[in-house]
Amino acid sequence: MSQRPKLVLVGQLSTYPWVFEAAERAEIDLILIPRGDDTVESAGRPDAVVEVLPLDVDDHPDDALDALVERHRREPFDGIMAGNERVVPFVARAARELGLTGLTEEAAAVVRDKRRMRRLLLESGLGVPGFVVIKEPDGWDEALTLRFPLVVKPSNGHSSLAVIRVDDAAGLEQAVARTWKLIETHHLGATEGPDSETGVLVEEYLDGPELSAESLVHHGQVRVCAVSWKGELAGPYFEETTLRAPAQLPAEILDAIEAEVIAAHHAFGVTEGSMHTELRLVGGVRPVLLEMAARLGGGGNMHHLVHVSSGIDLAAEALRVHLGHEPLCWTEEPVPGGHAACYLVPIGDGGRVKEIHGLDVVRADPHVDYVVRTAGPGAELLPYPDWSGNPAVVLSHHTSDAAAKAFLDHLGRTLRVEYEERD
Ligand code: ADP
Ligand code: CA
Repeated sequence: MSQRPKLVLVGQLSTYPWVFEAAERAEIDLILIPRGDDTVESAGRPDAVVEVLPLDVDDHPDDALDALVERHRREPFDGIMAGNERVVPFVARAARELGLTGLTEEAAAVVRDKRRMRRLLLESGLGVPGFVVIKEPDGWDEALTLRFPLVVKPSNGHSSLAVIRVDDAAGLEQAVARTWKLIETHHLGATEGPDSETGVLVEEYLDGPELSAESLVHHGQVRVCAVSWKGELAGPYFEETTLRAPAQLPAEILDAIEAEVIAAHHAFGVTEGSMHTELRLVGGVRPVLLEMAARLGGGGNMHHLVHVSSGIDLAAEALRVHLGHEPLCWTEEPVPGGHAACYLVPIGDGGRVKEIHGLDVVRADPHVDYVVRTAGPGAELLPYPDWSGNPAVVLSHHTSDAAAKAFLDHLGRTLRVEYEERD
């Protein structure tokens, strides 16, 4: 009998290797519940996966939970962790039902709802832009009290899907209608009734560069592991393409970011897991939270930025926390390993993919650690503000931030998605 701990990983896309490799390093076996758009065959491929459990978490969460409880009764597992944004509430519910480590259902609901995050940040005295919650498409004019430019977004979206900047009153009605429509096509939840799961949030535009902070939290104690630099994203749509870590910022600004992120954990009641927090640095100095997500960022690719830049094996530590174990970095100080970069090949105009040019050359570059391609020839990619996932991601390591930046610029010039001609 294997004595290795076993963890149920829910909805982690199997073509993204980081969490699976981390499980191997940490000697943890995984039971993978494939993401809705994944295949059982692909889900069974990573070495760390000892069992594939195909359950329809997205559309039939009650049945999925019953099946999971039954699976646990047959042979108990030791932990459960979310592998994508949408399954966070399910994972919290399952953890409670099975007596495993996780977020409370309340905290899971909070971090899935940008309206609730905004209200809690405000109540806690943390930085918040002016915001208005729109309850029906016709209510768009309630946001006219805010100061333009504004950002219109789904209250429980992800990946900048349906997030639109508007600069004047004329664009607002249209943007709210468009966001509302995308919420429906992407089934982000019921938009009607007093307990509507979703809706539209309009908030004032926070002008300044964007950052990401990855953290671990265990028994309520938070460690911010790394801060990454995303740079200027001005809109009208917010497709992110580059990240670098560690962010080159003065110590007092890094301290302010850390304080804001830790306070947000407390405000949201987030006590266990690995969190991905996005912020804007208003005027280049004042950190204001955009949102917090209860999972590894970027399908796990944020692990790489943290691992290289801080020495913390973030994905392995996240798995440990979800097994109820203390993270190793609580007692062993990690050794930072340099600078890391992440390039997400932009979708651009979208269409049917013919070819992604330049990837083979990139693969051979000694600075490159991972090239993961998720859209093969024939895949249909929707341009922002719609969304269908980035076609490929390149992760690399460098000896300086300047070298990381130069490499990202180089990728921007050499990688290109070619689409089939439209007829
Ligand atoms: P999602 O969950 O879809 O990623 P976010 O709130 O993170 O939603 O918004 C997506 C992106 O839109 C952010 O990364 C940021 O670039 C931009 N954005 C969202 N809200 C604001 C805001 N108030 N000010 C400036 N930019 C914003
Ligand atoms: Ca986001």
